[in-house]
Amino acid sequence: YYNSKTIVYFDGNFLRAEEAGIDLYGQSLHYGYSVFEGIKSYNTDRGTRIFKAEEHYERLKRSAELMHIPFDYKVSELTALTYELLEKNGFSDAYIRPLITCSPNMSLSKGQKSYLSLLAWEWGNGYLANNLKIMTSRFQRPNPNAFKVEAKVGGHYVNSILACQDAKDKGYDEALLLDEYGNVAEGSGANIFYEKDGTLFTPAKGSILPGITRQTVFEICSELTIPVKETLFKPEEMKGADAAFFCGTAAEIVALDSLDDVPFTKNWKDTVSSKVQHTYQKLVRGLSL
Ligand code: PMP
Repeated sequence: YYNSKTIVYFDGNFLRAEEAGIDLYGQSLHYGYSVFEGIKSYNTDRGTRIFKAEEHYERLKRSAELMHIPFDYKVSELTALTYELLEKNGFSDAYIRPLITCSPNMSLSKGQKSYLSLLAWEWGNGYLANNLKIMTSRFQRPNPNAFKVEAKVGGHYVNSILACQDAKDKGYDEALLLDEYGNVAEGSGANIFYEKDGTLFTPAKGSILPGITRQTVFEICSELTIPVKETLFKPEEMKGADAAFFCGTAAEIVALDSLDDVPFTKNWKDTVSSKVQHTYQKLVRGLSL
């Protein structure tokens, strides 16, 4: 992720990644009490462009607010700092990781002081890990009565690590997590859609992180007049469907091969999902639909 030349932004300054210290006496390190974002920038005809910067930084601010973490950067400042970080590192196609941590404080009361870090690393373009084999996980998504699931909180990702590693140990590429009632929720780090007879279905909000890519899929569907429904459904209802995909900033739109060894049946190239995938690729590069 970094080398001796990598520059990061930490608490008001740009400095070498190697020099960024870590406070051992903090709620973020001990309790997972941090919020973060995952953003991507792309090389476009108009130079380097951060995709959906405003939406990501709005969500970061909202996550901090939901977690009672003091944070007063403006979206415009965050965006400008991120472009500066990319420039200092000479990155264009990159993954950007803003992180808000709280320290020094070891109590279980809300954060007193927060620190913003901005990290970035190069992300080669053209990588599409299509055809993932996924399995229904025995790990449920965090319960909305126990966590603020719509916030992107560090501690929530312990659940993602458990589910993802369990799937890999069993020979699958990824996990599909259910909510407390057995409805499909999402992947360990991506939202899910399935396709049946030209219509797309995706879990309604409640037990998911409402993804910015998920929202972009809705926009693409509206533009291409592809019907899309937000609803609750069980894994059995999507097994053997025409197609399915994960979507997220890092994953982009990635086709799924099978769920619990039951294949999705249609040739990917003949699905509306593949049109959505294609359109997303154009959109992130700043091309119109
Ligand atoms: N769900 C989870 C659990 C995630 O970690 C992510 C990635 N941030 C997503 C969904 C997709 O969100 P986005 O499209 O905003 O990247």
